[in-house]
Amino acid sequence: MRKPIIVGNWKMYTSLSEAKELVKTLKENIGEVTGIEVGVCPPFVYLFPVKNIIEGSPIKLGAQNCHWEKSGAFTGEVAAVMLKDIGCAYVIAGHSERRHQMGESDDTVNKKLKAVLAAGLNPILCIGELLEEREGGSTETVLRRQITQGLSGITPEQMQSVIIAYEPVWAIGTGKTATPEQAQETHSFIRKFISTVFTEAIAQDIRIMYGGSVKPENAAELSAQSDVDGFLVGGASLKAESFIQIISNYKK
Ligand code: PEP
Repeated sequence: MRKPIIVGNWKMYTSLSEAKELVKTLKENIGEVTGIEVGVCPPFVYLFPVKNIIEGSPIKLGAQNCHWEKSGAFTGEVAAVMLKDIGCAYVIAGHSERRHQMGESDDTVNKKLKAVLAAGLNPILCIGELLEEREGGSTETVLRRQITQGLSGITPEQMQSVIIAYEPVWAIGTGKTATPEQAQETHSFIRKFISTVFTEAIAQDIRIMYGGSVKPENAAELSAQSDVDGFLVGGASLKAESFIQIISNYKK
């Protein structure tokens, strides 16, 4: 049985006071939630204050990125072990904004994934196709490449800690959501492909989140799809009300 997971990706948004206020409101309202894992990924500089607020609550902490080395002369970078040290549970790896704006390759994503796993954290591996790739019929080729290269060298044991987020790039921050049918079809393809790379048992256990303009209005239908195991939420996670609504609309 895969436990649903809903994680907010705050991207490069919020001031310190907004971040604290947002997570305080979440903490106060999330107490009733059972059977769903909930996490937030604030910008690096707010991880520590947010961690202090969520202490003692079921909300988990995540980071949006990391470097693949443990330490060294990498000015401006943050290591996965440091994120573990301050209480993170997850690290997002290969978000499309990093792949397409910061030039992250599948190889870089793979190195980050390995560092996150070595630090004892859960990587959230983001994969997804561009609009022209979907329209050109190459969605599955793109996803196969991102999965094969992103998970290269990852052991079956380590796969127990990996979470995948399917995020069609054309749906991120655009207001365009994949239809529930499109999400189900693609999630099912991803699960089947994982079973060929690893085993059927690993494919059945791995959680595949959907991300791309998830909001309170579409959360129920998307979450009702059998291969959708949760959401990675961008814009709608910045307002406590809409993030809470997404969690309460989730069909387990
Ligand atoms: C994201 O940033 O991972 C995301 C899915 O963003 P949005 O929900 O705003 O589309």
